[in-house]
Amino acid sequence: MNSPEDHLRQAIRSIPDYPKPGIIFRDITTMLGDARAFRSAVDALVQPWAGMKIDKIAGIEARGFILGGAVAHQVSAGFIPIRKKGKLPHKRVSVTYALEYGEDEIEMHADALVAGERVVLVDDLIATGGTAEAAVKLLRQLGAEVLAACFVIDLPDLGGAEKLRQLGVPVRTLVSFEGH
Ligand code: AMP
Repeated sequence: MNSPEDHLRQAIRSIPDYPKPGIIFRDITTMLGDARAFRSAVDALVQPWAGMKIDKIAGIEARGFILGGAVAHQVSAGFIPIRKKGKLPHKRVSVTYALEYGEDEIEMHADALVAGERVVLVDDLIATGGTAEAAVKLLRQLGAEVLAACFVIDLPDLGGAEKLRQLGVPVRTLVSFEGH
């Protein structure tokens, strides 16, 4: 039997030229459909923080909801959805961040956490780190202590994990792919 890391890597499907030419889309739906890979990813994501007090897991829309929800259950923490602009119904806080072309905005409910709570951020993949950096700013704006940011997939050539570490956030990734 191959190692859990090899199994995880093989469970991720790579789709060339999606959503546009030159991009390799790393598709985790195959991993989510594989019970062993899904479980090992959820366990491994927060393994360094197992046993520590975690108040909330924050997941980034949409794939971060699937992974973050499972992680929150695993560590008995609450869950905070971080969403694209215009989706949350109650009083919100928001952060705008730059994209390759233009900008985007993410939001969370202003009462989703209280200052001083210990939060771990979860998403499927970190590329440039723009989305995760905005999420860290959002959480810190409400006084969260961001314990870590965890991703199944790292694209190290795009520098996102390094960017987050420079913000003082420990980063955990499980599988790396070279290139974009
Ligand atoms: P970034 O803000 O550049 O770190 O992009 C991260 C977000 O975009 C994550 O929510 C990912 O789901 C998505 N993403 C970026 N690049 C890819 C890729 N090559 N394959 C799949 N998802 C990606």
